[in-house]
Amino acid sequence: MKTILLLGAPGAGKGTVAARLAATTPYRHVSTGDMLREAVKAGSPVGLEARAFMERGDLVPDEVILRIVRERIEREGASGAYMFDGFPRTRAQADGLDAMLASFGAKLNGVFLLVVPREVLISRIAGRRVCRQCGAVYHVVNMPTRVEGVCDRCGGPTYQRPDDNEATVANRLDVYERQTRELIDLYRARGILHEVDAAGSPEATRDRIAQVLAAWV
Ligand code: AMP
Repeated sequence: MKTILLLGAPGAGKGTVAARLAATTPYRHVSTGDMLREAVKAGSPVGLEARAFMERGDLVPDEVILRIVRERIEREGASGAYMFDGFPRTRAQADGLDAMLASFGAKLNGVFLLVVPREVLISRIAGRRVCRQCGAVYHVVNMPTRVEGVCDRCGGPTYQRPDDNEATVANRLDVYERQTRELIDLYRARGILHEVDAAGSPEATRDRIAQVLAAWV
């Protein structure tokens, strides 16, 4: 089992880049944000528990996150290659991930930090639209759908995430600074952190990461 993760502030492009990498590499895209949004939509127990945290832009409790990630790996098989997006977000989740991978006889192979200036983050989040059906991500200016409001990939309706409003975004950026940023030092100290300039197009960022991955084999 090989595992990598994408780290970076909200709006850095983790989901967009991960979707492109998943299309061209063996790494499966595991987005805890997407899993939680699906749980909320389905009204499952996890969704009911997560909803209020997400609406405020706060983090969902670590044990919920660790449980859904473990269940996903158990379902899809511990022999695959995984790419985590938006996970881990706290030190407790990072420690939990290490323990989980160890229990599968694996370890984290690499961490890619997507580096983007703050003003770019804000404009990316403000213009973001997501397909309600398949989760594909667009931007009203940088990456519009061919037909407004309709997903290019599946024809589903696109919408603005309820947590992409100004007040919630400010809190999400603060939460990132307070709780997630420390993971950068952790992974740097371990020698597995790759900093990637992610201010340009998703394809440019994907290619930078793919180059590193290709050098591993
Ligand atoms: P994202 O799609 O990654 O921006 O996540 C959207 C929201 O889901 C976050 O603001 C959190 O409320 C929640 N969430 C997603 N991933 C995690 C995680 N690893 N830990 C805690 N909360 C999470």
